[in-house]
Amino acid sequence: MGSREAFEMRDSSHELVGGDSKEQKGCHVTVAMGFCLLLLGLVICVGVGVVIFFAKTTPECPSTTAGLSNNGIWWNDPDCLTACIQQGVCEKDATKPETTAKPPAAATTTPMMPTTATPMMTTTTASAGNQPKVRDVRLPTWLIPVSYEVEMKPDIYQNDPKDFTNTGNVSILMDCKEETTRITLHIKSLTVKTYSLKEEGGADIAIDHPVYDNDREFVNFTTSTPLEVNKQYRLTLSYSGPLKNDLAGLYYSTYKNGSQDRYLAVTQLAATDARKALPCFDEPALKANFTISIIRQTSMVSLSNMPLQNTQNLSGEWAIDHFKETVKMSTYLLAMIVCDFGYKENTTENNITFRVWARKEAINQVDYALDQGIRILTYFEEFFNESFPLPKTDMIAIPDFAAGAMENWGLITYRETALLYDEKVSAASNKQRVAVVVSHELAHQWFGNLVSPTWWDDLWLNEGFATYVEYIGVDFTEPTWQMLDQFVITDVQSTLKADSLATSHPIYVEVQHPDEINEIFDSISYGKGGSLIRMMRYFLGDVTFTRALSNYIDNKQYRDAHHDHLWQAMQDEADRQQIKDDRGNALNVKEILDTWLLQMGYPLLEVQSNPPTADGKVTLTVTQSHFLQDDSQEPDPRYPSPYDYRWDVPVSYATSDHPDFDVTETSVHWFYKDDNSLKIEINASADWVVINPKQYGFYRVNYPEEYWQRLIDTQERNHTEINELNRAQIIDDAFNLALAGKLRITYAMALTKYLEKEESYFPWDSAIGSLSYVSAALERTPAYGDFKTYYKKLILPYYNKFNDSWIFDSNSSIISQYRQSSAISRACAYDVADCRDKAHELLQDWMDSGNNSIHPNARSVVYCHGVKAGGAAEWEFIFKEFQEANVAAEQIKLLQSLGCTNELWLLQRLLDYAVDDSKIRKQDSYIAVGAVAGNTIGGFLAWDWLRANWATLDEEFGSGIMMLGRFVSSATNNFFTQFDFEQVEAFVKMTGDLGTATRAFEQAKERTQNNIKYLERNQEALTDWLKANV
Ligand SMILES: [Zn+2]
Repeated sequence: MGSREAFEMRDSSHELVGGDSKEQKGCHVTVAMGFCLLLLGLVICVGVGVVIFFAKTTPECPSTTAGLSNNGIWWNDPDCLTACIQQGVCEKDATKPETTAKPPAAATTTPMMPTTATPMMTTTTASAGNQPKVRDVRLPTWLIPVSYEVEMKPDIYQNDPKDFTNTGNVSILMDCKEETTRITLHIKSLTVKTYSLKEEGGADIAIDHPVYDNDREFVNFTTSTPLEVNKQYRLTLSYSGPLKNDLAGLYYSTYKNGSQDRYLAVTQLAATDARKALPCFDEPALKANFTISIIRQTSMVSLSNMPLQNTQNLSGEWAIDHFKETVKMSTYLLAMIVCDFGYKENTTENNITFRVWARKEAINQVDYALDQGIRILTYFEEFFNESFPLPKTDMIAIPDFAAGAMENWGLITYRETALLYDEKVSAASNKQRVAVVVSHELAHQWFGNLVSPTWWDDLWLNEGFATYVEYIGVDFTEPTWQMLDQFVITDVQSTLKADSLATSHPIYVEVQHPDEINEIFDSISYGKGGSLIRMMRYFLGDVTFTRALSNYIDNKQYRDAHHDHLWQAMQDEADRQQIKDDRGNALNVKEILDTWLLQMGYPLLEVQSNPPTADGKVTLTVTQSHFLQDDSQEPDPRYPSPYDYRWDVPVSYATSDHPDFDVTETSVHWFYKDDNSLKIEINASADWVVINPKQYGFYRVNYPEEYWQRLIDTQERNHTEINELNRAQIIDDAFNLALAGKLRITYAMALTKYLEKEESYFPWDSAIGSLSYVSAALERTPAYGDFKTYYKKLILPYYNKFNDSWIFDSNSSIISQYRQSSAISRACAYDVADCRDKAHELLQDWMDSGNNSIHPNARSVVYCHGVKAGGAAEWEFIFKEFQEANVAAEQIKLLQSLGCTNELWLLQRLLDYAVDDSKIRKQDSYIAVGAVAGNTIGGFLAWDWLRANWATLDEEFGSGIMMLGRFVSSATNNFFTQFDFEQVEAFVKMTGDLGTATRAFEQAKERTQNNIKYLERNQEALTDWLKANV
């Protein structure tokens, strides 16, 4: 999916996101990147308690699953076993399990539980307080599901939603792989009402009442006689539970039709909430065939993964829809919906029925998604060399949706902002967002759905691939959008930032508990995973990459895979293509890629120059080290590096006498982890050298100051000598090196001087992001005035190109529209009077005339600066429009602009509304809080509010989709002083258990410390430099 869509607002960086300087690059930096950092922070979280817990007391015990796996490590080590018992994790009488269960064919790497480890006949309660979470949460493997028959009856027809229920029956056919008297399956927030067991085609078998193990989200049954190997059994259960608006499992969503509340029932089962919709074997490798039936009222329609088989009328106003049996699939990809929506439909050239559903009032907004969906699906069939296996696919826009979208096989669900597009109202960036998310979810139909990860530790296989391939899909349908170039700015650079924290984590990371799984839906799995795939494609070459991919999918379809299977597919094809490194040796794909997958962070390549030789050559000596924002920090000890933080790095370069940036696999010089250094020979006459053309490699580069100066001179003399992506890279690297104390900030600042004449969007985008950080750092220092003056000087020529009328040419390229948007947005943010006046005037026109004629690309900035310049009347007007808007993208712009006001009491009101779902949907709360926190005067208000309301926030959002962490991140994002740091620390100490925000607070502390160091290091130099350059 999907959580990536938490980065929803990243695209709005292209809009005229208004606001003050903190909002630079809009939410791109403060929100999106903040989230990245934040999520990233959160990410590693879960295991925290448990892992620290083990690490502290039994550091020498090698497995964090501690005796709970049957690999024998803990059980055979008496000290570890004793420690385990002392910690209360192992039962006192725990002994090595007698049976060594064999993994199921479908899950060869699945760790299994010993018979003694799972509480059998006791009902346990969920871990609370500071108790470490259980980590022995894997299902035993003696019974494997083959097929399910499910009949669901979501009741959304009561007068009061509190009375809505989820009831159903499920019949599961299971293969017995090992003799057992216990049946264990997943369940959450449901109660089993009736239960029975029989041998398939045979007699009934008595089973004892269900025993719930809430910590592990299990329900256990004991059978009267042992179940025998190689026989099949059928377990039949009826169940019921509440149906809430909690955005997980089977839940209800609501919208208004006029004044009437309308309800729909919808599922969000990834990653581990299928068990909340129905009792099931809820692990990705336990694939089965599902036959779904849904009971509904006749005024509604129901949808599921497969086409409708038939409908039977029941008594009264009820009917039951029977859907065709699914292909073999994972539980997390199931989907069931009951709604009263409309749809538009078309057929792909390969005869797949494609429908897009929405509220009937929004049905005119589905055309773009339908067009994109059909074209991208068809293109991916060719790209993956594998037909889409289902006869139909539906896509549907859900009014309340936690993530951005979810790739359920054949029934893809979206937030409205990710699927609906109205060209009269939505900005160019909203259009791109629809295309990108549709492409992402369709990529999953192969990567994730057809081939699924064996376990969630390889989540990145799904998300990294979909993140990279989403750009390829849109590059096909919208070839003028420079999608493959946009990847560098949007994913490579932002993830380099996130991954430079000591609290980052490797892409491949052990996860057990559902909270741990949810937390790796972060920028490392998505952005770094995607960057790794892109780097792999670059050094293996297109032919090897695409053929290997096709072979991998073909071999693994309808099954699960570990990343080693992917490496092997790449290796096989690389061998066939005889891909060699620059020393003539065959590439070892696994060895190279594991250095990127199994350790956090990435290398900084440092270049040293040697004296020129008599024949006019210069040898550059390149060394590598782990790049950290603060290298006095120890990388998180929970993730020790197997390679001592060294990488196999593909290096290529361009120089002024060979300014070739279109590098391929044949240009790669390998800098292997065991090499002390890499030597590069260039002509002494070269004016400049740029390592890492187009940033194919996931690393940063530092040069001697003399070489930086040459780059600065080149940018000022004739910047187009260097490729636009590398102009962006140079700026991004320089500012981040300055942040880490590895380059003087004056060099980074000097690289911005040429921007007055820069017309490319990409370097500007990198600079806007980098300067937003400088802005936040200086905001409370005397140098801020000079900074604003300098910024204004840079932005004016850029802005003046567009300031005449703020008219956007819809026929111009999307990149050029983004360029225009960002120029106007920055001009308003830095007090260019013409910009602010125009924004205010345009909002007043709308308020006076009742007719909104503001261009969609300009709306964010007009709303924001209109509200900022105005008072309560403007705020109320925007809030009313927000409540009434029928286009979700428009709603978000309106909501964000409410945070631009200079009135504290209105900001306070917005914070209060953020937790009142009659005012702001729960899914959008973080946007409201982020808007307040991003306002210079709102940051501290948000922080006070967060602390004052912590208990309520924890209760409302603590178990959800990392909302709590987002609140923390946005409220602390611009903390730059020791006082700020102490406040965070004091709150952490006082509160104790921070629940799902634990990691967010750790990250807030690390970030604040880095910010403090940054100022200490650079404030004086920045102040002097600005004085000399304004
Ligand atoms: Zn995804």
